[in-house]
Amino acid sequence: MTEEIVTCPGCGNEIGREYVIDGVVFLDCGGVIVHRLEANCKQCGRDIFWVVPDVRLERLIKKVLENREKRD
Ligand SMILES: [Zn+2]
Repeated sequence: MTEEIVTCPGCGNEIGREYVIDGVVFLDCGGVIVHRLEANCKQCGRDIFWVVPDVRLERLIKKVLENREKRD
């Protein structure tokens, strides 16, 4: 399991921690674990938007592109 701190792009305030569990990314915001977050920074008021990067979709697209290259 890896852990990475997510901070506000405006002031650097800590928003939460990203965890990777079984290849799926989650955001730990203290009391809750979320897959998607739309919020405002408590310190500077900046809009915060965080969403799980869709790694599975990315891999699928890569596979499709690789197969296409082989055929040509
Ligand atoms: Zn901020």
